[in-house]
Amino acid sequence: MSHRIGFGIDFHQLAAKRELWIGGVKIPHHKGAIGHSDADVLLHAICDALLGAACLGDIGLHFPNTSKELENIDSKILLKRTIDLVREKNYKVVNVDSTICLEQPKIRPHVSEMQKVIAEMMDVSVDDISIKATTTEKMGFIGREEGIAAYATVLLEGI
Ligand SMILES: [Zn+2]
Repeated sequence: MSHRIGFGIDFHQLAAKRELWIGGVKIPHHKGAIGHSDADVLLHAICDALLGAACLGDIGLHFPNTSKELENIDSKILLKRTIDLVREKNYKVVNVDSTICLEQPKIRPHVSEMQKVIAEMMDVSVDDISIKATTTEKMGFIGREEGIAAYATVLLEGI
């Protein structure tokens, strides 16, 4: 049985009058993330980790931010397409571990819904989708609430 590991990272700026989508869930907040798509920082980091594990390049290669078709797209569609690419290479997801870095709002109340959304798309159990969150103790652009970041690691298994 062959296994492959992948790592992904993503950043987005925060601004007023934008929706805040993280992990496929809309989070009530006075600021949202700026991006070509819905700017879901966690789903983008997970896409990059999946692509990395399958050695398929990165999210910008498959979903360029110059594409008209992808403007304001729901990142769940990008994740679904990425999972399909990984399956075409004959791999399935074993588990995901991830960390969201932001100052506000609190992520904990939304984690179980994010786990459910992601696990369903990957056809794994919610226990296979770990989502953690941390602040940067008010340091840097994340601490000043100018932006957010997410990191993800995935393990794939040959099918
Ligand atoms: Zn992104």
